[in-house]
Parts: sequence; structure tokens; C-alpha cells
Amino acid sequence: MDTFEGNAEGCYLYSRHSSPSNLNLGEALAAMEGTETANVAASGMGAITPTLMQLCNNGDHIVSSRTIYGGSYAFLKNFAPKFGITTTFVNITSLEKIEAAINKNTKVIYCETVSNPLLEIADIRELSKMAKRHNLTLVVDNTFSPLSLSPTLLGADIVIHSLTKFINGSSDTVGGVICGTQEFINSLRSVIDGASMLLGPVMDSLRSASVLKNMRTLHLRIKKHSENTMYLAEKFEKDGIKIIYPGLKSHPQHELYKTMYNEEYGFGGMLAFDVGTLKIADDLMELMQKRNLGYLAVSLGFYKTLFNAPGTGTSSEIPLDEQEKMGLSDGLIRMSIGLDNNIERTYQEMKKCMIEIGVL
Ligand SMILES: *Cc1c(COP(=O)(O)O)cnc(C)c1O
Repeated sequence: MDTFEGNAEGCYLYSRHSSPSNLNLGEALAAMEGTETANVAASGMGAITPTLMQLCNNGDHIVSSRTIYGGSYAFLKNFAPKFGITTTFVNITSLEKIEAAINKNTKVIYCETVSNPLLEIADIRELSKMAKRHNLTLVVDNTFSPLSLSPTLLGADIVIHSLTKFINGSSDTVGGVICGTQEFINSLRSVIDGASMLLGPVMDSLRSASVLKNMRTLHLRIKKHSENTMYLAEKFEKDGIKIIYPGLKSHPQHELYKTMYNEEYGFGGMLAFDVGTLKIADDLMELMQKRNLGYLAVSLGFYKTLFNAPGTGTSSEIPLDEQEKMGLSDGLIRMSIGLDNNIERTYQEMKKCMIEIGVL
């Protein structure tokens, strides 16, 4: 009975429920986020969807940031309603709009600490207070900012990561994790009604051992990603390009970020800028790829720089009129800056590309 309930130390019921390697990786991630425990999953979506299905029943309501990962948006908008779970999408930087969207059926506030792809910053402390006032669960996707930001230390209830990105860091796997209380993680793993157990997005245990090995260098990688990104952001801003990066004073939530971050890990490895049209964005990205400055690809957190145009790429699930409302234009380029050893040279080479394409 103890094994069935997950209470028999050293005894494992069945590997979809738990396994030594999966528990080890989960404990490492829980330690990083400061939560009691964690449950790893086969992908980021395999962490997000069971969490929301576990927290919400038929008739329940979610208030979500409108600038979230395309898959999360599509799940909330198109899939969750099949189970009677509805969502209101709001501008996450407006606390008034978020509070106004809460109704008597609301169970969850959902957001990303650093939003995809516009890099808006959620005020986790204030959102946590609001969640507590209304008896809601604050669920935060922290994929863009591991180590730099620790949402549970600021009051979030549950923190999710796609391990596919910075945490694994080598773009050779998919994975996810849910960090939370022992009680919540137990409920996800319940053989009776646990969403992770019953929907079955389990991580393969050989894979979790390899993700754990990669995680051992995460602190070094994040520092380097942040340092390189800050360098490029400052240089290109000086050159007159409107760079979106939380490390720049020109970012609307720069000061807020500074009240929340773990300073030594910096402002993260993501930046974005608008070159006007999709054609120019494509030409620039093709040229940068040809010059071996990175890859025209989705995903993020790789050792090489990755760039894409989210309007037609990673956020293409979001209808055009809604993209427009949230300020996501066709010419927006999102970059995940790599671990380049000589970032000054990278800057010079990127600048040449921008001059050739006519962006500078
Ligand atoms: C990639 C990503 C996800 C989804 O993760 P997968 O591992 O691809 O399932 C969720 N949230 C954010 C912010 C992401 O970047």
C-alpha cells in the first residue's frame, strides 16, 4: 500500500509514476526553484497541460497572460474548452486588467515570468498577492529565465519549465518539469485521478539522467548567455536599433526585473527587435545563418545563437488580429543568444549583416 501511495522510500511502483532517475532530476530542479519537490515530464507541454487539467474542473476559469508560448495559448484557447475550462487572456503587465478578469469560477492565474516572444516581465510578487486575495493558484512558466528569476521565492505556487531550452541546453531532447508542493505533486501522480499519471507524459529515465548531467553546467551557461546578450543589446541599441531586452533601461519593466532577479545570473539570454517587415527579417536571418552567426530555428537556450520571426513561427498559433493587439509584428526577430567566446567579433559580424540588408 505504501508503494502505491508513493510513501515507501526506495520502492518504486511503476516507471510512469516514478523512477530513481526521474526523482533525482526532480529533486535537483526543486532545489533550484526552492519548492518542496517536482515532477519531471516528457516535454514542457507535458508539464503545462497536466498541471492545468489537475487544477481545473469542468466549469472552471483561468486568467492567462496573452503573451505566452504558442502551444500553451493554443491549449487554453482551443483544447481546454472541450473540458469546460475557459480562459480570459489579459495584458500581464496591467494588474487592474488581470484583477478585473477574475470571476467566481476562476481557479488559476497563468503567466510566464519573461514572456514569449515580447519579453514582458510579470510582477510575480503582486500577482501572488492577488492570487492569495482571491484564493487562486499562481502558475508560472519560467522557461526563459532559469536561475535569473525564482518565481516561488517571490510567491508563485507552481513553477514550470520546458527543460528542452536552457536547462538541458543542447537542443537534443525535449523535457519538462512541474515544481510545487509535495501535496500538489502527489496529486499529479495519483493512480486514482492524477493528470500526470493518467495522461502519461512521463520522461524516459535514461533521458532524465542525461538532463541532470547537463544541468550541472547551467549556472555557467546562464551567466554567459546573459553577459553576451547584454553586450549585444547595448551595442545595437547604441547603433539605433530598438532592442527589447530587460537588461536595458529602455525596457518598460527594467526596474521591476531588478527588484526580482538573482543578480549574478543577469537578465537572461533572449532579446528581440523589429526590423519592419517579414521580408527584411527573413533576409537578415538567412544572411546571419550563411555567415555562421547562428541558426534560423525555433527553440532557445542552445550554445549557438538561434533566431526566428515569431509572428509566422513559434507564435503562429495566435491569430493575426490578436498578434497585432499584443504588439507582435511580422518583422519581429527573436534571438536566443549563444555562448560565443568572442562576442565582440559576433557583434561586428552581425552589424555587417544588418548594414548589408539595410537595417542599419
Ligand atoms: C518551448 C516552450 C514550451 C514548451 O516546451 P516543450 O518542451 O517544447 O513542450 C513552453 N513554454 C515556453 C516558454 C517555451 O519556450
